[in-house]
Amino acid sequence: MEALEPRYIALYQSGELERRAESLEARLSFCDICPRECGVNRRENELGFCHSAHLPVVSAVCAHHGEEPAISGSRGSGAVFFGNCNMRCVYCQNHQISQDWERQQSREMNCRTLAERMLYLQDELGCHNINFVSPSHFVPQLVRAVLEAVPMGLRLPLVYNTSSYDSIKSLRELDGIISIYLADLRYASNKWARKFSQAPDYVERARVAIKEMYRQVGELVMDDEGIAQRGLIVRHLILPNRLANSEESLTWLVGELSPKVTVSIMSQYFPAHRASRIPLLSRTISLSEYSEVIKLLDRLEIENGWLQEMDASVNYLPDFTREGHPFDLTVSNPK
Ligand code: SF4
Repeated sequence: MEALEPRYIALYQSGELERRAESLEARLSFCDICPRECGVNRRENELGFCHSAHLPVVSAVCAHHGEEPAISGSRGSGAVFFGNCNMRCVYCQNHQISQDWERQQSREMNCRTLAERMLYLQDELGCHNINFVSPSHFVPQLVRAVLEAVPMGLRLPLVYNTSSYDSIKSLRELDGIISIYLADLRYASNKWARKFSQAPDYVERARVAIKEMYRQVGELVMDDEGIAQRGLIVRHLILPNRLANSEESLTWLVGELSPKVTVSIMSQYFPAHRASRIPLLSRTISLSEYSEVIKLLDRLEIENGWLQEMDASVNYLPDFTREGHPFDLTVSNPK
């Protein structure tokens, strides 16, 4: 099929995109943009759990060649890495930008500048899409930047690349704006979600969020070159010691959504950040843990998606202090 025109163009023309931006921005006064519902006034620079005020924090902008083949394609995915986060994963491989808010403050930019960065990814780097990484706490700023970027010529599909710890109310405002949801399904146990990510209601929040994403965009649709145009991709990171409860999560996915949902199984877990000091998380996954998940895919008849090779953990750790690009471009794409 040919590339689809993103629906945000029609939303811009009808005035709906502006209405959504305004409605989301109003909620920053008593912030309930994500499930934390901190109630702080971010417009007055009060800070909640995510340590983010009213301006977007953009920690890196680059062509990303390490996402799934349908996202990165040959020219790369136009990644916009937001700084800070509404989770606190002890093993976060992006911890330099997600959990170092004092340093990230210098990366604040206005929405107009963010829009110009999106046009740079589209027009100068030739990326296949704009990929908002960790956007859950910056949904109003994301929509405002898209509103600014459309009259500048933005035409690429937008990817919402999320932990899935998202508010349903915020996701509904993204209906028709986001073409592709790239959504983690990280835990099936709130005990581990609380202990390792400080998200004690992750399981129910993420499940309801993923259902809403699927309602909006459905199954993955690609163009003639195999590049994603619309749809949901669910990412599942295998954790050591079965802490991700892969069987429970994938069984839920097949039962509540569909066996046809596109699934990306990630084996790249590495004990980054604080994880090397936590015995249950202090190693990469074992061959038997990896093989179990492969058998599970077969048993659940999950056919659409990608499976990372076992050696992915050593290949693809970002370094956001590196000049120019957070990823070492001399290593191969693990997916
Ligand atoms: S976006 Fe930030 S301030 Fe708002 S509810 Fe979530 S964590 Fe709290």
